[in-house]
Amino acid sequence: MQAAIYDGKELLIKEVSNPKISDTQALIRVRAAGVCGTDLAIVNGSLQTPTPIILGHEFSGDVVEIGDDVDPKWLNKKVTSEINSNIDFNCFYCKQKQYTQCISRKALGIDIDGAFAEYIAVESYLLHEVPETISYEKATFIEPLAAAYQIFEMMPLEENDKTITIFGLGKLGLLITQIAFLKGLNLIVVDGSHKKLNLAKKFGAQHQINRFDGVNIADTIKTYTNGLGADIVVDATGNPLAVNDVLASCRTRGKIHIKSTHGVNTPINLTDLVVRELTLYSSRCGPFKKAINGLKSGEIEVEKLISKKFDLKDIKKALNFHMKNPEYIKAIIRI
Ligand SMILES: [Zn+2]
Repeated sequence: MQAAIYDGKELLIKEVSNPKISDTQALIRVRAAGVCGTDLAIVNGSLQTPTPIILGHEFSGDVVEIGDDVDPKWLNKKVTSEINSNIDFNCFYCKQKQYTQCISRKALGIDIDGAFAEYIAVESYLLHEVPETISYEKATFIEPLAAAYQIFEMMPLEENDKTITIFGLGKLGLLITQIAFLKGLNLIVVDGSHKKLNLAKKFGAQHQINRFDGVNIADTIKTYTNGLGADIVVDATGNPLAVNDVLASCRTRGKIHIKSTHGVNTPINLTDLVVRELTLYSSRCGPFKKAINGLKSGEIEVEKLISKKFDLKDIKKALNFHMKNPEYIKAIIRI
C-alpha cells in the first residue's frame, strides 16, 4: 500500500506492505484523513516521535477485515477511530474509565503508525460507527471536535462564566467557537486572519479582534467585559508566544484553558497567575459520541473549515500549504 512516512527528517510517500491485524484489531480502508497542527509539529521537528512512522490521526474509512475476537458487527461498517491505543484496561486511570490517559497508551499517528495510508490496523475498542449522513471528509472532524467538547468536560461552567475568549481560529478554535455559542456564552475571538474572524462571526462570535491591527488585545477585551477581562480564555493558537496575552485577557479568578500541543517550551508569567488566582485547565482527547451527535444533528458545521483537498501522493503540498498560508484552516487528504 501507499503510505506517508516520516523518517525523522522528512515526510515521504512509500510503498509498504499492508498492516497485519491481530485477533483484537480491525483493518480499515482509509478514505479521508485530516491534517492537524500535531502533524506539522512532528514534521517541523518540534514534537518528537519514534521513527519511521506513518502520520495521521483524524480519519475515516471502512472496516474490510476483522480479527477472530472482534464483534462481526464491525465488518463493512463506515467508521472513525479514537487515537489512544494499546490500552491495558488495568491501570489506575483505566480503573476510573479514564482510558485516554492509560499509562500504556500509544497514540495513532503520533506514537504508532497512523492513517496517512491506504490501510490502518486499529483495536476494535477504538471504533465508532459513522452515520451515513456524515461524509468521510466531514467524519475526519470527529476526533478534533471531540477534543473541543473535552474543554467543557474538564472545566464545567459556573454561574459567573458568561464570556469566553478564544485565541486562535484554526480548525480547533472554530469548533470551540461553535460549541461555546451553543452553550450560550458571549464570545470574543482573536486571530490574525480576517477570513477566519469573519467565519467565527458567522458562528456567533460577537467581537472579533485582529492581532495585527496594532491594538492591545487584553485592553480591548476589557472594554467588552466591564473592565474585568474574560471569565474564560482558551488558547488554541499553537503559538507559545500567545500565552502572555491569553493570561492578561483573563479576569481575576477566571479560567485559562490550554489546547495547544506544539511541543516547545512556553514562557508564562506565573506570578500573574498566582496573584490574580487564575485557574489553569488543559484538555486533550474527548467524547466521540458527543462529536458524532454534533455533526449528525447539524449543530456543528465543518464544511466551511475544509480549505482544500489533496490526494495522498501530494501530502507534502498539503503540509506546506498549512505552514505557509495563515488563511488556511484544514486540508483533507483523500485516500
Ligand atoms: Zn490503563
